[in-house]
Amino acid sequence: MKRIYLDHAATTPLDKEILEKMTPYFLADFGNADSPHAQGRAAMNAVDNARDLLAEKINAKPSEVYFTSGGTEADNWAMYCGAYAAKEKGRNQILVSAIEHHAVLASAERLKNEGFEIVYIPAAKNGKIEVKTLQSLLCERTGLVAVMSANNETGVLQPIEELCAAAKAAGSLFFTDGVQLAPYLPVDVKKSGVDMLSLSAHKFYGPKGCGALYIKGGVKMRGLIVGGEQERGLRGGTSNVPAIVGMAAAYAKNLQEQADAAEKLRGLRALFLQELAGEDGVEINGEEGLPALLNLRLKGIRNTDFVYSMDLKGVSLSAGSACASASIKPSHVLLAMGLSEEEARESVRFSFGKENTKEEILQAANVAKELISRLRGGNSL
Ligand SMILES: *Cc1c(COP(=O)(O)O)cnc(C)c1O
Repeated sequence: MKRIYLDHAATTPLDKEILEKMTPYFLADFGNADSPHAQGRAAMNAVDNARDLLAEKINAKPSEVYFTSGGTEADNWAMYCGAYAAKEKGRNQILVSAIEHHAVLASAERLKNEGFEIVYIPAAKNGKIEVKTLQSLLCERTGLVAVMSANNETGVLQPIEELCAAAKAAGSLFFTDGVQLAPYLPVDVKKSGVDMLSLSAHKFYGPKGCGALYIKGGVKMRGLIVGGEQERGLRGGTSNVPAIVGMAAAYAKNLQEQADAAEKLRGLRALFLQELAGEDGVEINGEEGLPALLNLRLKGIRNTDFVYSMDLKGVSLSAGSACASASIKPSHVLLAMGLSEEEARESVRFSFGKENTKEEILQAANVAKELISRLRGGNSL
């Protein structure tokens, strides 16, 4: 039986058309983009074109786009160097939303050990970071605010424009992890006004190991990775030309298909929910946001047992963030939304993709229903 993949928030398959655009840069045009010869110039040209394309699509200038090894590196860079840029202005406090990806949270923890004051912005029960909550925390010490655009476990969308405006009014830098938003909604850095935004290619059918950080012109940032003059001296290391080409092409293609895909995904999500609607003790975590994401609490069932059993039946999904699923810790996102540890341990994430079919969704829902009753072992709730 063909496996059913419902874990698109963890990663998406590489689009074949994108692979074809990347292939020449592994083989014929393999040159180092910094080499002073024709093959080097061909590679550099490809990187320049990719930067122009990605910049245009997110409404940035090419000089504001920096390629990285992925979302994690971009998040680390924004947090780490953003914090030190703020410190130079005498601001030592960083406000970080409690529902961030571990790439951001772990950066904040490191900064705390280096003497920064880290304050976590609590989330509301529906998964939102509210503007009034941020406003109550902002002060003259705040140098950096980090709130993700859309959450990777619940799909809840954050009011980034308003949050950013509040941070800017208080004289702080504003960074948003846009990794999970970008596959489903257009990114417009001018409209949102953010100082920094991170992206990852493999979340929108591009290659793994490639990401980007947008840094608004005029924001003085140091680099995180030293050792070369690549990326205008801010990110050392031989440019990953095939992946950079693939990232920009994947972003452009995905953006073009986004509206239609969103409609389809919303339909699949609704169908899946409808199929499970008759089950007792199934609740949605967080308000509706990204069309592809659904976080469900299955009362009385351990999420690790459910994910394991679904896997045996040919359905791939995860309990939450892939980066955290190896640990047995309950999701920090769900805890921040007020769920108990037990409730968080009963929650699973389904994330749909454009290649999923109605038949797959019906089949996955049937397997889920069967497992829900089996795993509860006839126990009443
Ligand atoms: C996947 C993800 C990341 C990490 O991106 P990588 O390219 O896998 O390092 C960061 N933030 C969010 C919200 C993500 O979903």
